[in-house]
Amino acid sequence: MAITVLMPAVAQREKQVGGYPITPVPFTSVKVWNNTFWGQRLETSRKVTIPLAFSKCETEGRYKNFERAAHPSPSYNVGELMPYSFDDTDPYKTIEGASYILQTYPDNKLKAYIDSVLNIIGAAQEPDGYLYTARTQNPQNPHPWAGSKRWSKEEDLSHELYNLGHMIEGAVAHWQATGSRKFLDIAIRYADCVVKEVGPNPGQACVVPGHQIAEMALCKLYLATGNKKYLDEAKFFLDYRGKTEIRQEYSQSHKPVIEQDEAVGHAVRAAYMYSGMADVAALTGDSAYIKAIDRIWDNIVDKKLYITGGIGATNNGEAFGPNYYLPNMSAYCETCAAIGNVYVNYRLFLLHGDSKYYDVLERTLYNGLISGVSMDGGGFFYPNPLESMGQHQRQAWFGCACCPSNICRFLPSLPGYIYAVKDRNVYVNLFLSNSSKVSIGGKAVSLSQETNYPWNGDVKIKVDNSKAGKFGMKIRIPSWVKGQPVPSDLYSYSDASRPTYKITVNGRSVPASLTEDGYYTIYRNWKKNDVVNVHFDMDVRTVRADNKVEADRGMVSVERGPLVYCAEWRDNAFDIMSVLLNREPKFSEGKLSYSSFIADSLKTKLQLYRDQNITTLATDAQTLAYDNNGKLTTQNVKLELIPYFAWCHRGSGNMKVWLPQDVKATRPSVPATLASQAKIASSTPSSSMRSIADGLVPADENDRSVPYFHWWPKQNTTEWITYTFPEAKQIQSTTVYWFDDQPWGGCKIPDSWTIQYKDANGNWQNVENVDSYPIKKGTACTANFKPVKTSEVKISVKQPAKFSCGLFEWSVK
Ligand SMILES: [Zn+2]
Repeated sequence: MAITVLMPAVAQREKQVGGYPITPVPFTSVKVWNNTFWGQRLETSRKVTIPLAFSKCETEGRYKNFERAAHPSPSYNVGELMPYSFDDTDPYKTIEGASYILQTYPDNKLKAYIDSVLNIIGAAQEPDGYLYTARTQNPQNPHPWAGSKRWSKEEDLSHELYNLGHMIEGAVAHWQATGSRKFLDIAIRYADCVVKEVGPNPGQACVVPGHQIAEMALCKLYLATGNKKYLDEAKFFLDYRGKTEIRQEYSQSHKPVIEQDEAVGHAVRAAYMYSGMADVAALTGDSAYIKAIDRIWDNIVDKKLYITGGIGATNNGEAFGPNYYLPNMSAYCETCAAIGNVYVNYRLFLLHGDSKYYDVLERTLYNGLISGVSMDGGGFFYPNPLESMGQHQRQAWFGCACCPSNICRFLPSLPGYIYAVKDRNVYVNLFLSNSSKVSIGGKAVSLSQETNYPWNGDVKIKVDNSKAGKFGMKIRIPSWVKGQPVPSDLYSYSDASRPTYKITVNGRSVPASLTEDGYYTIYRNWKKNDVVNVHFDMDVRTVRADNKVEADRGMVSVERGPLVYCAEWRDNAFDIMSVLLNREPKFSEGKLSYSSFIADSLKTKLQLYRDQNITTLATDAQTLAYDNNGKLTTQNVKLELIPYFAWCHRGSGNMKVWLPQDVKATRPSVPATLASQAKIASSTPSSSMRSIADGLVPADENDRSVPYFHWWPKQNTTEWITYTFPEAKQIQSTTVYWFDDQPWGGCKIPDSWTIQYKDANGNWQNVENVDSYPIKKGTACTANFKPVKTSEVKISVKQPAKFSCGLFEWSVK
């Protein structure tokens, strides 16, 4: 293939960031050191996550969709063959991540593999450029989400333009990494088809993306090709939002984008749209867009941001909740939304140059984002809750695989977030060990950082070489060392600690100070081997939320440096849900080896982890419990805490970020019950089974603050749970609380249910003289029966034809 028209890779990249007043230093110019906090994350991306994602694309039929689309047939039942209309994006996103990897680690085998995948993808493209396997496999009878005609369901479920967006993102990355136009040309053909068929003119489909990302992507394609029609199409997608037929908060089409002032609806769509607005604004100078994103950013940071940097409070529509609605156990905080939050804050920094955006970015990055992938790169979270009773577990992949494949493309691009340049200034925004090449005023400057951040606050920045003469080094002073957890009043520190920072050049203090934009700016004639020593005090801090956040009232979260901590069952031999922190807690620091957080099967592959530790915290606390007489008792305990991102690596169990400091906020343990002492088994075993015996009763049939157990996606079956008691007991009554998430979810109250017991011969018998088996939503359903003595009892549940059943609680007396 002819590649003579290509510009050198570096020139392409510099061109790509055009428009923004501040220019990021591309990740290809930054080499993160191995055997460091982020070096390990990059290593696991390369060795574990990306190979895993490619193998899932193979085994989960992602490539098959393209193969069938290349040879369409009316016999294909697309809805059955392909779970989601956006499944094509998994290969696109994985290729994007792999391309970033290729730029740092040349790998001919990987390059050839991607090439073979692109052959499969390209063969599925229709002659006019349309590439959407959910339709092309069987155009007469496409995927049910695709709609009967192109674009007809775009604002609803088809994701044709979402597919375009991820295709472009992957294609531009692949072109930059390899110089090959193979993927780029495929993307250009599809983009041309979209530009021709979708727009405001007569004969065009006047629709906007149902799931945003094409806005950002088309800006990238404009910068890669210089063809302004792609930028115009991105602007059309934004300007017609709120003006087309479907108007809904869910996809931010409820009103024109420049009139929006509150973050609403699906959090990933929202964050991608705000990012696209920033990109278009940077390229067109449209200040109305910027004003709108600024207002929305204020709303998020003032009222809708978790202490972990997560966004999107509710699973209902994977969406932002109302202001100050930030529940912990049911927090959605999708991994993709955390990545979107990084995208937004990064772009606002490039527009405004204020460190506050990086304060949010750093908080998200170190907490709610990397929690989404395990430290060994092989286990993922879709939601990232701040509290668990064991119902959450990491998985190796999901049917809807947006989060793992998004991690694939985000982590390898991280080195591009460290530095940026404006005029004769270089911004140092993140602290991690690396060597980099920066261009200041067209002159080469080599910088390196050596640090153990986030485990301690000492950073050595060295000028390895400079031909740039005088320039300013702008070092971000994180908000956590300036006494403010986030740039708003949503959270504040509740202890008396007053950390500070110190910066020297070649061992001496220099004239410089903190400027308005949040940076400590040192302007001087930099010479080879100049060394800047940065020291941030890393005191352990306690944080309180604004009292309007009901879920956090009377509680504190604990943090150290950029890391939020949590208590997890594995380190504490008592019920951490019943804990009460001291009023003025003192913390001691400890260590845990990385290797205890790595799956055994990956230990040889990830040798680098061997001698690394994470910093743990411990503090004196109490547990509260009711005794059999209803009297509240306390016990002194040592409460151990680990970084939030490290939770759920050692099995599922209780976890808590917000810890009660007021008695009112505690949840004392209750005396043991027959159910809580029983061994539990089910027709579909799951770690969330224990939640039915935890004594926690829901407020209604869809109370997400109380854990529950369900049989979804099984339908129309009879399922069961058994309790096996330590010894035979007399029982005569049982109570169930049913879970029911209608009208939106998949669970409903059962058609019927019954209770059996095991007789002395080990046979199941129905209990007798049952008064009734009530089936009521949101309340106790109690059945009384003739007393029997037994060591095992069973509940059988007949599930409705098209729904599954679930229980919050099942007790026996
Ligand atoms: Zn996702």
